[in-house]
Amino acid sequence: MPIPSRLDLEETMIRETIKELIPYKVTQIENVVRLDANENSNNLSFMIDAEDLNRYPDNDASTLKKAIASYLSVDQEEIIVGNGSSEMIELLMKTYIEAGDNILGFDISFSMYKIFAKIYGADYISVSNDNYVMDMDDLINQAILKQPKLILICNPNNPTGYLINKTDIERLCKSTKSLVVVDEAYIEFCEGSMINRLGDYDNLIILRTFSKAWGLAGARVGYLIASQTIVNDISKVKAPYNLNALSQGAAIKALENSCETFKNVDEIINQREYVYNQMCEMGYKVYKSAANFLYFEEKESLYDELLSCGVLIRAFGNRKYRVTIGSKSDNEMFLEGLQSVQTRMVI
Ligand code: PMP
Repeated sequence: MPIPSRLDLEETMIRETIKELIPYKVTQIENVVRLDANENSNNLSFMIDAEDLNRYPDNDASTLKKAIASYLSVDQEEIIVGNGSSEMIELLMKTYIEAGDNILGFDISFSMYKIFAKIYGADYISVSNDNYVMDMDDLINQAILKQPKLILICNPNNPTGYLINKTDIERLCKSTKSLVVVDEAYIEFCEGSMINRLGDYDNLIILRTFSKAWGLAGARVGYLIASQTIVNDISKVKAPYNLNALSQGAAIKALENSCETFKNVDEIINQREYVYNQMCEMGYKVYKSAANFLYFEEKESLYDELLSCGVLIRAFGNRKYRVTIGSKSDNEMFLEGLQSVQTRMVI
């Protein structure tokens, strides 16, 4: 039988549920200041031994888990590590979601929640935080009404930077039997982690990543902390050797040098407040942020205008933008870009 040279799009065997999805696209532009992806502009670059690459990595990542357990004062058995916290979000869906289940979250939030929900056939029900505030009463009411399997909270929230207080998250944990997933990807940039409340709530799950404060986005290391029951459930679907040896080594080194990371985090927080104040003075509508980025409003053409000044930010449509707080010089470039855009407007 002749092999078809090319699959006709009409004949594809793709699952019906994911037919309409658009592949995740990342803007790759050379020679620009990249303030679009909430990475750390400081390359902490921990050197690691690249020995034994002929062998599979430690399937349990036990040395890394031990280091995380000691850093967070949790039990090693309560941790799963993997290929970014993105893998953790997907593992949760793989473990708990049947087609037709409900997943509850806010909208605006991290875009991948909705996409993974779709891939696994769940209905993503959202509570609006379009006005910036994430209203816990609204979320609790929806949780009671819709009985979701998972409730996803990004705290602080990407892209708005809003931080929900711990008392509100505890109210949610108490008022529902749903699994409450708190994505703390940016928690190092503020106070308010739920980590010391894990023992109090069987339904609480926390996600963390080395991609932001720890400066290891390229290594793709994320982890999940929850009760042993939940960890056992998820272990059933985790692919073998899901975190490669080089990345395990890099994350261990990062934890050994945590002082460096937190010195850098302090600088980013100072810079965040500086950039926020400068933007307010320039007359921008910019939102308070607990993370390493700022969310703001401006006219439609800003993205292209800043790009022409050599600065890449993230545009969300509807005149909403997010800028990552980078190094001092990156941030100055961004502010100068804003200034020159405004000057052009006046002329
Ligand atoms: N959660 C949030 C809130 C994020 O913003 C991101 C990355 N932008 C992730 C999870 C995924 O991060 P990673 O897979 O790099 O750990």
